[in-house]
Amino acid sequence: MLAPYAVRVESSLGRRYPEPPHPYRDDFQRDRDRIIHARAFRRLENKTQVFTQRLSDHFRTRLTHTIEVAQISRTIAAALHLNESLVETLALVHDIGHPPFGHSGERALHLAMQEHGQTFDHNLHALRIVEHFEQRYASHPGLNLTFEVREGIIKHSHDYAADAYPELAEYILDQRPPLEAQLIDHTDEIAYNTADLDDGYEARLLKLEDIRRNIPIFDRCFRLVNSEFSNVRDKLKFNETLKRVLNLLVTDLIENTRARVGAAGAGTVEDVRRYPERLVAFSPLADQERAQVKQFLYHNLYHSESLRPQKADGEKIVRELFTYWLERPSALPASYQRQMETESPARVVCDYIAGMTDNFILDLHRKLLPRLSAK
Ligand code: MG
Repeated sequence: MLAPYAVRVESSLGRRYPEPPHPYRDDFQRDRDRIIHARAFRRLENKTQVFTQRLSDHFRTRLTHTIEVAQISRTIAAALHLNESLVETLALVHDIGHPPFGHSGERALHLAMQEHGQTFDHNLHALRIVEHFEQRYASHPGLNLTFEVREGIIKHSHDYAADAYPELAEYILDQRPPLEAQLIDHTDEIAYNTADLDDGYEARLLKLEDIRRNIPIFDRCFRLVNSEFSNVRDKLKFNETLKRVLNLLVTDLIENTRARVGAAGAGTVEDVRRYPERLVAFSPLADQERAQVKQFLYHNLYHSESLRPQKADGEKIVRELFTYWLERPSALPASYQRQMETESPARVVCDYIAGMTDNFILDLHRKLLPRLSAK
């Protein structure tokens, strides 16, 4: 069933704390189940994807986005005969390190940390969550995930320079991750590119004519849909078009990756790891079309005037609470105060804020800084 270049669970480098095998779930399936049962996973339900103010319950949250990434990833994994359980696990965990308020929250935390000579990175934070902050099991700290899942958390979206991150040395930073991890970065983008067009259109922030004029792949599909279903309302034409765009991108990613793996002569996971480039990739044309969608969304949705107030608000709340706790560490929960014995105050405050949901941080801000939150 598995391709020769797929990760085999029997060859896993295993867990930090060895555990006896489970009678009817393999190690990657168990990792998937541990992630689904983690508190940090449940918190994704109340973390912003794009729309912080819940204009509609129909828009994506980071949890429903995550489920969409898992769905697309599994389809592609099955078509390429990759390890579907590992792919699903990596998809479900890929956004677990995101702070409240989406990219605004991430930016505010990063800027605050830079003032203390440090950084905030959601992949590194995700690793800290699964290794340290999730305390569920009597027999070991963290979720005790397999090496391949921890490696995928770090390496799925980009390469970290080995000399800059000596603490990540065990993740063989000078090599590429397996295809199962490489896939996630692309499925993440396919998922949010199409979903954000959908939510943006539904929110009436994006207009059909503008989308058609600026996104050639969308316009091409729309013309076909329009001639096939000329009498249905625009929203259904839009949906049908988006479905075809998604399908084209997924199909291209499957076919082009298969061709690249073949051309590289990659016959094993080791070959994939040692290959100088990532082998999961779109064809040059699809890559260009993907970039056009992303660029359109940056200009017309993410950086739009309409979303500016909610973004500014999110950044302000994160910044003010960061300063508040840094000045009053004794106001932190006891477990975070203990963490200060081994880590810098800025890192501890950053960890605390990064774990919060949108609602939780809004409530705390109102409670702790009522004068500022009324502004
Ligand atoms: Mg994502």
